[in-house]
Amino acid sequence: MAQAGIASRRKCEEMILQGNVRVNGQIVRELGTKVNIATDQILVQGQPLQKQGYACVLLNKPTGYITTAMDTHNRPTVMDLVKSVPVRIYPVGRLDLDTSGLLLLTNDGELTNRLIHPRYHVEKTYRVKAKGLIPESGLERLESGVPLDDGITAPARLEHVQYGKNWTVLHLTIHEGRNRQVRRMLETIGHPVLELERIQMGPLTLAGVARGQFRHLTKQELQSLY
Ligand code: URA
Repeated sequence: MAQAGIASRRKCEEMILQGNVRVNGQIVRELGTKVNIATDQILVQGQPLQKQGYACVLLNKPTGYITTAMDTHNRPTVMDLVKSVPVRIYPVGRLDLDTSGLLLLTNDGELTNRLIHPRYHVEKTYRVKAKGLIPESGLERLESGVPLDDGITAPARLEHVQYGKNWTVLHLTIHEGRNRQVRRMLETIGHPVLELERIQMGPLTLAGVARGQFRHLTKQELQSLY
């Protein structure tokens, strides 16, 4: 546990003695118990102990926080929200200042590469609230590809289209990750984004994670991303 960056050796021993550690479902209070980090399921205060030194958390980002590992202007950053993670982690890709929702942070470079490299086609779903009533022709453009200044977008999926008085809400799934892509797509079809939230990334959703909170990914979730 100490090697995995949970806390100091002494603190880890205290946690074990207090019954905060489960191995394969059983509370283990005996110091020096041998475990296999690759095959045993180890939960520390209910959170899985990741492979040695690695952590990956799913944050439900509020708007108003910058996605950066370090901000030189002292503005609120996503790092402020994951301070209790005992190892240094970094955002996987980015969400705009005024975008909320699912953001992963990890120190596993291989995992980061898999999640952001277009080659792996990881799907990202956004709940978009856009200005005005988007006509059928506009929805078709979003789905088939929108010409942006860095090229036409790949085909996307649209679901749950709802119309309000002077707005449209829809779920848009893309697998590219260009800078401000969703905002630029909507702007191009003449319906600027009013609100943007990422609600899904690959198999991961925001279920059970309140705005501003995070959770560690489970072993199974990590395996499903590799
Ligand atoms: N697309 C955008 O335009 N902004 C985001 O934050 C994410 C995707």
